[in-house]
Amino acid sequence: MYIFPINKITLFYTNICNLKCKHCFVSPLFNENQKMSNETFLKSLAFCKYNEIKKISISGGEPMLFWNDFKSLIKNFFINENIYFSICTNAYWAQNTTERLKILEDLKKHGVSRLEISTDSYHQEFISLDTITQCIVDAQNKGLDVIITICFENLLNEFNTIKKINKVISDSKNIRLKYVSNFGEAKNNCINTKPNLSLIEGYKCNQIGCPVITYTGNIYACCGPAFTLNNSNFYLGNINKNLIDEINSTLYNNKKIESLKKHYLCNLVPNYKTLFNSNKINSTCELCLYFMS
Ligand code: SF4
Ligand code: SF4
Repeated sequence: MYIFPINKITLFYTNICNLKCKHCFVSPLFNENQKMSNETFLKSLAFCKYNEIKKISISGGEPMLFWNDFKSLIKNFFINENIYFSICTNAYWAQNTTERLKILEDLKKHGVSRLEISTDSYHQEFISLDTITQCIVDAQNKGLDVIITICFENLLNEFNTIKKINKVISDSKNIRLKYVSNFGEAKNNCINTKPNLSLIEGYKCNQIGCPVITYTGNIYACCGPAFTLNNSNFYLGNINKNLIDEINSTLYNNKKIESLKKHYLCNLVPNYKTLFNSNKINSTCELCLYFMS
């Protein structure tokens, strides 16, 4: 058994979203609108406490659509347990200044440490870059950390976004650039996401072993696109049906997860160049799924 600390957990609180981005990898889950029950949310927090996980992130869909629901369950949990709590959002709620300032105050009051805001040419079809830059300034002034995730297929398309964000963000290290994952809408929209092979060579995924708990209580070993495919190789159990020790044991006894944590992905799939060059695989996540299957 290979035991490692779980650095972070993601609660995939809902598949409901108010946008329809062309590159969205969770879009295959949009059909049936669902959100996490209070019971599943509280069991997820208990799982984090038991495993001494100090970083929790909540994502979707758009979890801020349900802020008033889950904030009542948080009470002082994050403050008392000294947990670094992040919310992933498209920042739709930040368009009106009064509302934005009120919500930021409320987030701070409930022990939220960080906003992880997604913006790029896809999101900006719906939410303007000016809204995002203003939100960054106001959030930082309230004492919240801010991370900006910018997805790209062609980095040049995001040049203006990166430049403007760089002017207002407290640390340029808080800008995360991510290749669009070739799943969901990105696949439907035929977005060309072929990454540079030299980047693949130095790639060790930091999401493996950082589980995601979905709104149904299913728990997967990775919070990337794999869980949207119901890939059984990543499945660890269900928070409502399995004991925490059973879930942990499934995680720590999976030899492939152990390999992914220890080795570069390309070393685990020696024929990776052929796979990329023949277009059988177009992203690191697809390569990872190839290795897992
Ligand atoms: S990328 Fe995010 S904001 Fe856009 S549709 Fe998907 S979940 Fe919603
Ligand atoms: S590379 Fe693998 S472990 Fe990492 S996010 Fe993609 S599917 Fe998950």
